[in-house]
Amino acid sequence: MTKKVRVRFAPSPTGGLHLGGVRTVLFNYLFAKQQGGDFIVRIEDTDQGRFVEGAEAYIFNTLKWCGLEPDESPVHGGPYAPYRQSERKESYRQYAEQLVKDGFAYYAFDTPAELEEMRNAFKTPENPSPQYNQVIREKMRNSLTLGVDEVTRLLSENTPFVIRVKMPLNETIRFTDMIRGEVSFHTSQVDDKVLLKADGMPTYHLAVVVDDYLMKITHAFRGEEWLPSAPVHLFLWKYLGWEADMPQWAHLPLILKPDGNGKLSKRDGDRLGFPVFAMDWTDPKTKETTIGFKERGFLPEAFVNLLAMLGWNDGTDREIFTLAELVEKFSMERVHKGGAKFDYEKAKWYNHEWIKLSPAAELQPKVKTILQEGGITVTDEKLLEKVIGLVKDRCTLLTDFVQQGSFFFQSPVSIDTAAIKPKWDDKKNLFFTELIRAWQLSTLWESADLEKEFKELAAVNELKTGDLMLPLRIMLVGGKFGPGVFDIAAVLGKEETIARIKHTLAVIQA
Ligand code: GLU
Repeated sequence: MTKKVRVRFAPSPTGGLHLGGVRTVLFNYLFAKQQGGDFIVRIEDTDQGRFVEGAEAYIFNTLKWCGLEPDESPVHGGPYAPYRQSERKESYRQYAEQLVKDGFAYYAFDTPAELEEMRNAFKTPENPSPQYNQVIREKMRNSLTLGVDEVTRLLSENTPFVIRVKMPLNETIRFTDMIRGEVSFHTSQVDDKVLLKADGMPTYHLAVVVDDYLMKITHAFRGEEWLPSAPVHLFLWKYLGWEADMPQWAHLPLILKPDGNGKLSKRDGDRLGFPVFAMDWTDPKTKETTIGFKERGFLPEAFVNLLAMLGWNDGTDREIFTLAELVEKFSMERVHKGGAKFDYEKAKWYNHEWIKLSPAAELQPKVKTILQEGGITVTDEKLLEKVIGLVKDRCTLLTDFVQQGSFFFQSPVSIDTAAIKPKWDDKKNLFFTELIRAWQLSTLWESADLEKEFKELAAVNELKTGDLMLPLRIMLVGGKFGPGVFDIAAVLGKEETIARIKHTLAVIQA
């Protein structure tokens, strides 16, 4: 019987969710849904020192916004609850103790001062921060170097200790990564990681293995930065006797800075002026807010689409995919090994495409909120839908609707008469006065009729339409932007259009 696919996203709630983290969620989600499997979110909060208020809620809000809902999580519940590691604290110690009993781990009693001393004593220019490893462990105070009686005494006196994994000497460990193929490590490269801390909390290394086992995870996808930890995890799977149930691994390539080398960081976003977090994140301590893609005006459909394309393609030139299409097309085999450079201009291109693709009615609630934030209260929903239909092709970000759409709901705040005046003369003045009269009598108020009347009147006055359309646009909009000017007039309605023309004429003549 083949096992049901179960994947997990296992964030530590320490702050805003980086777009690389959301991409990890996405790849987990796509794989699970394609295979008819389960997508689990497990909160890895064993490092209490790094706990950040609000970070967990933020993660779930982000997943909701992206439409990537987990099947099981601390919020959604599920058969393997609890899904927060801090609530599973008691379950880890027994495995650490079992490893000690079986000779695969040991108690280490070294105090922080002794560890510091060790680092100073063994540091060399080539190795500035020596690790607690196969060589060093022989020189430290642990159950490998101390006699049994001494260890028993220390334990009975409640001496603080940690449990460390005992990396075997001179072994090569291999595994097949779904993206990288065969990966190997020599045990001399890996230190004896702490598994259980002095406060009884497991470290990430122990907890991730125990929980992946207990939660029956079949595939573990995570960022490439976790690759160096893989040998520790592989050994734990083996030493705990669970090797046959070990998940398949895929270490996802990094998302790289647009300029230079290395992983894209929040600082790069601040430096280059683009978001790196999915949604706005306010640091509870400093109260500093970091802008997110959502608040910058991205549609979740576009955000998901652009993340999928950071390191994956379907083998063709196609770039636009819905989430359902991604579920259908996604394959881990097509994820690139190399990191993907983040390009904000390209990210905006995706958003523009998605705004163009989205029906006006679908954009409506979002645009209404954006306009509201821009100081415009929309009361006429029908008008809003028309406006969206008219201007959406010009909006790259949702926030662009404020600039592109405001003038439909309120008179332009300023009118660029300086752009009209140099070419203004009596003939034009007369033309617009006549236009007001003609349009006032007009029984039809459709774009095509307005254009026809406008052009006929221009011809009668022996004026070029081209010289008259810009002034008209500025009168209605305030500046040199916006969709077709007769479309604008049609949406504004007769009364408002005429009022705006009259107003500008008065300003010019004043
Ligand atoms: N808790 C780790 C993190 O914060 C999870 C790594 C993994 O998926 O194994 O990213």
